[in-house]
Amino acid sequence: MSEKKRVLVVEDEKAIKLGLEENLKFAGYEVISAEDGPEGLRLGQTARPDLILLDIMLPGMSGYDVCRKLRDSGAQMPIIMLTARQDEFDKLHGFEMGADDYVTKPFSVKELLARVHAVLLRGRAREEGPREFLFGDCRLDMVSRILTRGGGEVTLTRTEFDLLAYFCRNTGKALSRDLVMNDVWGTEYYGTQRSLDSFVANLRAKIERDAHEPKHIMTVHGVGYKFVV
Ligand code: CA
Repeated sequence: MSEKKRVLVVEDEKAIKLGLEENLKFAGYEVISAEDGPEGLRLGQTARPDLILLDIMLPGMSGYDVCRKLRDSGAQMPIIMLTARQDEFDKLHGFEMGADDYVTKPFSVKELLARVHAVLLRGRAREEGPREFLFGDCRLDMVSRILTRGGGEVTLTRTEFDLLAYFCRNTGKALSRDLVMNDVWGTEYYGTQRSLDSFVANLRAKIERDAHEPKHIMTVHGVGYKFVV
């Protein structure tokens, strides 16, 4: 990395916050931090962090709400949720709120740093790709994250956008469901394949002329999907 990436840590448990700050600095990151939801939101909106580590149970405002409000205000930096228990984090809910990944406490520093690095790399790959994709009567603008169809804007959820952008970047390749879920949601995503299929069904309804006879998001039997322009 040519310049230091700035990581915002939002965590109210002082020992964890201190440990994260020290380890991230040692790994070469610039670190800023907040101990409650409102301050985390404020810094997320004003301090231009490259990535946010966001606890869920926070004083003042939950991590979910901080995440959603950041996304609502247009913030696109990666967000990794920190969760106290495996079952505390509702994965689909978290991803719909706009989280990119999550780790469960207690986490190893090595694992967390690997996750931070991977998420920043994914973000960079997103920035370096084409600025738009054209298929059928659709245009997907990667900069404004807007899908237009026949000139009119089509509303996509964040997850739908990420999934469609992924398909576009991998046009013509047969993609297994595992690969898609892994690449779009991160390595620790154990959602059912049916949840991916339901996102695909929603996307087809929005981009296909006939969702029952798709011409863009094709089913590859026994494998997964293939995107065709
Ligand atoms: Ca907490």
